[in-house]
Amino acid sequence: MDQAVAKAELHCHFEGTITPALMHRLAKRNGIEIPDNLVDADGAYIWTNFNGFLDAYDRASSVIRTPQDYYDITFDYLTSAAAEGAIYVEMFTSPDHAAEVGIGYTDMNAAIARAIDDAEQVAGIVGRMVATCVRHLGPDQALRVAETITANPHPYVVGFGMGGDEARHAAIDFAPAFDLAFAAGLSCTVHAGEVMGAASVEDALDALPVVRIGHGIRAIENLALVERLVAEGITLEVCPGSNLALGLYPDTAAHPLRALMKAGCRITLGSDDPPFFHTSIGAEYARATSDFGLSRESLVQFTRTAIDAAFVDEPTKARLREKL
Ligand SMILES: [Zn+2]
Repeated sequence: MDQAVAKAELHCHFEGTITPALMHRLAKRNGIEIPDNLVDADGAYIWTNFNGFLDAYDRASSVIRTPQDYYDITFDYLTSAAAEGAIYVEMFTSPDHAAEVGIGYTDMNAAIARAIDDAEQVAGIVGRMVATCVRHLGPDQALRVAETITANPHPYVVGFGMGGDEARHAAIDFAPAFDLAFAAGLSCTVHAGEVMGAASVEDALDALPVVRIGHGIRAIENLALVERLVAEGITLEVCPGSNLALGLYPDTAAHPLRALMKAGCRITLGSDDPPFFHTSIGAEYARATSDFGLSRESLVQFTRTAIDAAFVDEPTKARLREKL
């Protein structure tokens, strides 16, 4: 891996960064059993399809019980990303997952922010949060999350987004939540065009105030939509390792990364849920050259695009650009 290429990541989920080793440590500390059939003999997460993955993700997250756990997960992830050459990471946090284990939104933010500060101090990496709602929990819950986020602003919460099961509900159903977050000054991103096709990306762009799309790769199925992405300057948070692990494409040759680049789309690389997909931000950059045959200049461009499309403030972006 080329540590020398500075990396920036806009698409990874807080709970999805917990390594099995850290999950074991937290479970032990919290006095809880590791859920059955979650980790195999080699210590890797077990799941077979997209819904199985979402289930494994929720069960792995269930070991998180205290603000200290939030601190440890954040610090562990940011310092390991920094060791691979990452200079900036935006993590998707989930107030819904925190609430499930009885942790309030502001307590979650405080613990993560403390780890962000410590990771920057020891490893020079800048971390920020994008608070997200969960699509399959429905529009009413998404609006409640948006209300919580906007009522409790935090300087490190720089955006609003949505993950979860893309097959559930229409994008427009979530307009009240996104409009509220946007009006409060939060930039927005939404997962679309991953499990569902190009129409899902189109619906998201029509209905929601988003400037980035999580994944968005299946936009390639509609060339007029690809042109629209280029014209509107929408950034795609592309996560090839995740897409391949989930079987969206059989191999890198079939993955639309290069085609989207060739069409002029703004693209960044993300690891999504790295230990679940046997990847990391460093591995994604490495794969871009080894498997996709991209140049070192393309890697630098991914980072430049990520900084441009990051939701963090301009002075911080200027500071990050100096590291390129
Ligand atoms: Zn994702």
